[in-house]
Amino acid sequence: MARPQVLVLGGNFAGLGAAQKIREYAGDAVDITVIDRKAYLDYIPNIPLEIFEGRDPAVTMHMDLVDALARDDIKFRQAEVLGLDIDARQVRVRPNEPPGAPEYRVGYDYLVIALGAKLAYDEIEGFAEHGHTVSDAFHANRLIEYLKNDYKGGPIAVGSDRFEQGRKGKPDWLPIALAACEGPPVEVSLSLAHWLEEHGKGGAKNITIFTPAELIAEDAGEEVVRQLLDAASKMGFGYMNNTQGIKRLTAEGVEFLDGRKLEAEISIVFPNWKPHDFLKGLPISDEVGFIITDMRMRNPDHPEIFACGDAAAITVPKLGAIGHQETEIVGKQIAKDVGRLPAERTDEPWMPEVICIGDMGGGRAFYIHSNSWFGGDTQVLKMGRLPYAQKVLYKEMFFRNHGKIPNWGLPVAKWTAEHLEI
Ligand SMILES: Cc1cc2nc3c(=O)[nH]c(=O)nc-3n(C[C@H](O)[C@H](O)[C@H](O)COP(=O)(O)OP(=O)(O)OC[C@H]3O[C@@H](n4cnc5c(N)ncnc54)[C@H](O)[C@@H]3O)c2cc1C
Repeated sequence: MARPQVLVLGGNFAGLGAAQKIREYAGDAVDITVIDRKAYLDYIPNIPLEIFEGRDPAVTMHMDLVDALARDDIKFRQAEVLGLDIDARQVRVRPNEPPGAPEYRVGYDYLVIALGAKLAYDEIEGFAEHGHTVSDAFHANRLIEYLKNDYKGGPIAVGSDRFEQGRKGKPDWLPIALAACEGPPVEVSLSLAHWLEEHGKGGAKNITIFTPAELIAEDAGEEVVRQLLDAASKMGFGYMNNTQGIKRLTAEGVEFLDGRKLEAEISIVFPNWKPHDFLKGLPISDEVGFIITDMRMRNPDHPEIFACGDAAAITVPKLGAIGHQETEIVGKQIAKDVGRLPAERTDEPWMPEVICIGDMGGGRAFYIHSNSWFGGDTQVLKMGRLPYAQKVLYKEMFFRNHGKIPNWGLPVAKWTAEHLEI
């Protein structure tokens, strides 16, 4: 009997994590293939920290994906995913190393969609001429070069555009977020302020943080945000909320949808996280194109299709830590289907948790652990040297273990961050 074919689309945090968890729980009962357009994992969360500490993230933040997968007997195929034929249980792909390859179809018994989202900078008017960001090595290097060579000491705006979250299939407990992921703007503001001071170019007073929402990082919980804003205003940061989104970027700064303007020499922007175009309009997608799943990360109408990470509709905020929790579920569900795990080990109730560690510069970081966005009552904020060490060590452990974090890793990290004051 041929083994069920599991096809994982995307090989970054959610795709690699799901493939490894499926192998861990389903063992040799399945064949697993991962398809991605690039053969490395991009460790996005530490890109801001790398540039502000003087390293090029293209050198330090790329981990070999093919080797990590091969260690678990998981195949890798480098190709652009073009579309899904759900009825035929096939995916349309085009190999993308040399250009000019034809289109092929790859079949599956189980499909895991872990393709992340498009970061829609190209939909912000004026971004190419006047915008900066840090979500990839190209843009992060462009920003640090501007800061080092061209920055005249003017005002800096840091914030998010409006996130368009789908509503179809949205569970009642999941609120509508106005920004996709606001840990990064908070992190960048804090670490940039430290970098400016260190380089004699200013400090927190140069920076205004803006958000389309009533509260920045609202998914971290009101109490956490109150403490963060309190600390930020004492440090001298400006703050602008309820902007509703970005209308355009100009040489003068940012124009918002609510009619206000923010003067800026540098506008550091996080855009709308948009699903890939070919996912929109599918029977498994919500109205914007995120993949609808239940709490077991399975599409209700097509139980052979799973989604995890930023591509899944219930991943809000778009946070790698939530995607990580979801990969565990995908692994267990497929293992249950192929008879390798009993339902009592796979169907435990789950609620997402926001866990976020953001660099503050100078060897310090903030740590947030919260589930209040999802109806829980946990809201923890810590700042200090220990969260910084954890952020750096987590990346080291991730790379050394080829993407696998030992089961004790996260509980120990949480306990130490929440009980030790360093
Ligand atoms: C600056 C910044 C800092 C962040 N910091 C944190 C943090 O501290 N903690 C945290 O938890 N989260 C953080 N995040 C969020 C985190 O990076 C994302 O949630 C995470 O990367 C999502 O993982 P993913 O695998 O779902 O998607 P992605 O990381 O986007 O990966 C998607 C994969 O799919 C591939 N792909 C996409 N389309 C195609 C296609 N058509 N064909 C072939 N391959 C395709 C891509 O090449 C990629 O490898 C941060 C984000 C940013 C931008």
